[in-house]
Amino acid sequence: MGFVYREVRLVGEEKPEAIEVRVAAHAGIRGRCSACRRPSPGYDRQPERRWQFVPLWGIPVWFVYAPRRVECPEHGVVVEHIPWSDGKRPVTLAMMGFLARWARRLSWRETAQVFQTSWESVYRSVEWFVEWGLEHRQLDGITSIGVDEIHWGHGMKADNFLTVIYQIDAGCRRLLWIGKRRSEKTLRLGLKALGPAVVKSLRFVCSDMWKPYLNVLAAEAGQALHVLDRFHIAQHMNQAVDEVRRTEGTRLKAKSKEESRQLKNMRWPLLRKGSRVRGKARKKLNALIASKLDTARAWELKEAFGHFWKYKSVLWAAGFLDAWCDRALRSRLEPMQKVARMLRNHEDLLMNWFRAKGELSSAAVEGLNNKIRVITRRSYGFRTYKAMEMAQYHALGRLPEPESTHRFC
Ligand SMILES: [Zn+2]
Repeated sequence: MGFVYREVRLVGEEKPEAIEVRVAAHAGIRGRCSACRRPSPGYDRQPERRWQFVPLWGIPVWFVYAPRRVECPEHGVVVEHIPWSDGKRPVTLAMMGFLARWARRLSWRETAQVFQTSWESVYRSVEWFVEWGLEHRQLDGITSIGVDEIHWGHGMKADNFLTVIYQIDAGCRRLLWIGKRRSEKTLRLGLKALGPAVVKSLRFVCSDMWKPYLNVLAAEAGQALHVLDRFHIAQHMNQAVDEVRRTEGTRLKAKSKEESRQLKNMRWPLLRKGSRVRGKARKKLNALIASKLDTARAWELKEAFGHFWKYKSVLWAAGFLDAWCDRALRSRLEPMQKVARMLRNHEDLLMNWFRAKGELSSAAVEGLNNKIRVITRRSYGFRTYKAMEMAQYHALGRLPEPESTHRFC
């Protein structure tokens, strides 16, 4: 490479505080221009600089070197290219790669503590890693994407939501893009970032019934089959059951103790899939179902809807949907009626689930979704939006990694 390790020195009075690796330029090899990398005649030498290297036996290691300046025929007098550094930071590329890789396994704070460096330095390392990865990733061959919103931070303001785009092909599930807010503008930005070639070759898109997403996907990726995400429909259904339970709970409390007891501690059993409720909770649930309570009727509607996904034929599924919506609309349960109206309004998209059957896994969306939530929840560790964004790409983007002259983990 044109450089040799000349001397390794242990610094410290009683116990070693640092290891200094003095680097020297190979006498016979010219320095390279940092702009074009062409070997150029030497000009002069700058004062010594230090770059943090990967610690050994818990002792910080520093590269020490006095960079040359070279006179490039094209770029004039410039500092030489230094292969172990990106020229900006006093940290070697090897150390940045090392920190970035560890930052996937530990929190950033822990990474900084264990390797005796700053949080900032871990952040910069991840940033460098991610930026390199985003620049070098391949985006061809993407046929299915999922679009979703996630909540982050405190409050319900527009800025507390993020839009995420995932690739959900069987062979490759990864985070493709993340951006602030959940507006049409946000999603347009995201699709633009993927590029028109990617968007035009999509065959499936999967999303919630969120209007801005529906609009943009119809306009930009009209050729793709738009599938409503099953996971989100279940969520709407559960929210409706819960709303019925809460309203009824308040009403019963005022009326009779006996009846109100039936609803106590029933939130989770009611939201679960019926076949998964066992033991004591099951007995209570059975008693509740036998009652004439609104909550019981709402729960039954929710459970019945589970059959919808089992149909193989679009026609039969459509028939079932129609009958279910009729029942829900006649139920006099406002939250359930609302769900029914919503499903009817999006019937076409809902039926696409059967048209895409076998080719699209909505479980993929759900899986990635949960992971991204876990990472945003750790957000107290990320001081800024930018840092959180970097962490998401780092953990879920499956980005290619820069080659390094030294690799440790
Ligand atoms: Zn040059």
